[in-house]
Amino acid sequence: MKLATDLVHAGRDDLGALGVHALPIDLSTTYPVTDLATGTASFDALVGGAASAANPIYARLFNPTVARFEQAMAKLEHTEAAVGFASGMAAVSACLLAFAQGREVLAVRPIYGTSDHLLSSGLLGARVRFVEADAIAAAITADTGLVFIETPANPNLDLVDIAAVVRAAGEVPVLVDSTFATPVLQTPADSGAALVLHSATKFLGGHGDVIAGVVACSEAHAQKLRQVRAATGALLHPLAAYLLHRGLPTLKLRVEAAQVSARVLAERLAAHPEVLRVNYPGLGTVKNAHLLGGQLRGPGSLMSFELRGGHAAASACLQALELHTVAVSLGSVDSLIQHPAGLTHRVVAPEVLAAHGIGPGTLRLSVGLEDVEDLWADLQRGLQAAADTIGLDRAA
Ligand SMILES: *Cc1c(COP(=O)(O)O)cnc(C)c1O
Repeated sequence: MKLATDLVHAGRDDLGALGVHALPIDLSTTYPVTDLATGTASFDALVGGAASAANPIYARLFNPTVARFEQAMAKLEHTEAAVGFASGMAAVSACLLAFAQGREVLAVRPIYGTSDHLLSSGLLGARVRFVEADAIAAAITADTGLVFIETPANPNLDLVDIAAVVRAAGEVPVLVDSTFATPVLQTPADSGAALVLHSATKFLGGHGDVIAGVVACSEAHAQKLRQVRAATGALLHPLAAYLLHRGLPTLKLRVEAAQVSARVLAERLAAHPEVLRVNYPGLGTVKNAHLLGGQLRGPGSLMSFELRGGHAAASACLQALELHTVAVSLGSVDSLIQHPAGLTHRVVAPEVLAAHGIGPGTLRLSVGLEDVEDLWADLQRGLQAAADTIGLDRAA
């Protein structure tokens, strides 16, 4: 089946037998044990990381509403399994605990600010070494537990060649944070990625009302992740799983519509005198832009751009916007704009950000589903305010 069909139908195989049309929500925290032998065997299986068992036992071990969403994500990411978590960071944490505890992680910057912070902090017992993508093969040692990349990267939209990293990593599993792409634009498992991670809070949820994470992977890797999840309790709540699953049928429409507007806005921003630079795969202005059309099937709806007037201009621009929501997060139906150096990437050292082109004048824009001309009118308002700031400074 084609993607549009899978988005509508994946993870719904058992609904016919249940005699229902819409996704059911099971909020049980515990489940009646029919007989002790079955209960004991089921408990052992689920604590060991099995996908399901004759008896669900307890909601930290299994929930059918969550399992349906996970089956859908596995189908969409072309993997055997998927494991849902309470947030994107809970998903990152589970991967570090399952594959890199006491070992080294090789990571390619830039990555999401909190992922960078979590790796750098060593909080979960994994040590990080940040390397360039083309230095991975030489950097691998017997101690390497995981290779961690994000593409397109937050917030400068750089691309990383997944297949090349997988080749360089050899036996070491490669984790790809694919949050910016969604399975509509990229399926990293097709390039050999072992772990495909999403902050489902973003495009998958898409409506700004769910915090969640998911990792799509082999059944063997999923078992380890479920063991960690059962022990640490960073569960995806069934109501959140329901909302995520309910939104999947429109994911392709949302991603593609926002992308059409993003292309227009990226071009207009790039031509504007207040804008020094626009980082957008569709403009060819990001690292490895040649991967667009191959690994990355479309440029997406995220971009970052740098204002000529630096921090003061960025601040004035945000203040003047009336339609865009000034907020962190991304991939929502409404357009969101934020200042990476002051907000999402605050936990990353300024010199590290500067090395990746993120400065005091950089804004990150997540284009939503509003009319593109309304969005442009609002951005022009912001850019005029940015220009006025520089004028005032010069006069003073
Ligand atoms: C938001 C985000 C995360 C973290 O996800 P949460 O759901 O906020 O915990 C991880 N990676 C990327 C690329 C993100 O944008």
